[in-house]
Amino acid sequence: MNATYKTKAIEVAGKKIGGESRPVIIAGPCAVESYEQIIEIAKTAKALGVDFLRGGIFKPRTSPHDFQGLGIEGLKLLIEAKRQTGLGIVTELMDVTHLEAFVEHVDIIQIGSRNMYNYSLLKALGQTDKPILLKRGFSATIKEWIMAAEHIAVGGNQNIIFCERGIRTFDDYTRNTLDLTAVPIIQKETGYPVIVDPSHGTGIRELVPTMSLAAVASGANGLLIEAHIDPDTSVSDKFQTIDMANLERIIEQTNKWNNL
Ligand code: PEP
Ligand code: MN
Repeated sequence: MNATYKTKAIEVAGKKIGGESRPVIIAGPCAVESYEQIIEIAKTAKALGVDFLRGGIFKPRTSPHDFQGLGIEGLKLLIEAKRQTGLGIVTELMDVTHLEAFVEHVDIIQIGSRNMYNYSLLKALGQTDKPILLKRGFSATIKEWIMAAEHIAVGGNQNIIFCERGIRTFDDYTRNTLDLTAVPIIQKETGYPVIVDPSHGTGIRELVPTMSLAAVASGANGLLIEAHIDPDTSVSDKFQTIDMANLERIIEQTNKWNNL
């Protein structure tokens, strides 16, 4: 681990995130689409050395007319993928009404950009001991992001993992501007691990491999990457979703970097 600042380690589903551990890889589709889709991705991901399977079941889409996710049916598919592969699962919670089901079945609860300011949801998470992956709001300052985490921590839950996923800037060439300076800053200021999402951070699949390496070089404690067996058929975020061969290359390259 080549980070400037050491963070606490969070242990979940047999893996360690932060501390002296190598960066973890969280990968999977933007959305869980079907049994065949998630099982095939999970099995391939497992074979490549991925640490956690991601897949959205409640999708916060900009348009209410777009696919909203499979909901609790999707959770059953993630549980089945975990049963078949042993991979811990990461998925986004949007509504407190599903908190109990998530606490029971999900290994890391993702809070998406749009909910970083949802303080009642954050406070509810503070009452659990689940690891929380807290994504940075689109336009959130470092201070606001740290304070969002504080809303979880004051309730007693210290299992927080920050996720830099790009912010809105004046430039619109990329979907977002990936702010890698946030990695050492958050590690230094909070002592919590930070992972980087180069998929939403760029919106462009060709940029994901190099930005993954840049993230690891910045000291990130892990990567969250959207990957699919057949990216062009993804129901959401296909332009930023990579295929499994590229995921394999990223894992090889980041492993090489870790051994430097
Ligand atoms: C996602 O991870 O698919 C997602 C919706 O992320 P964000 O909240 O960063 O937009
Ligand atoms: Mn997505």
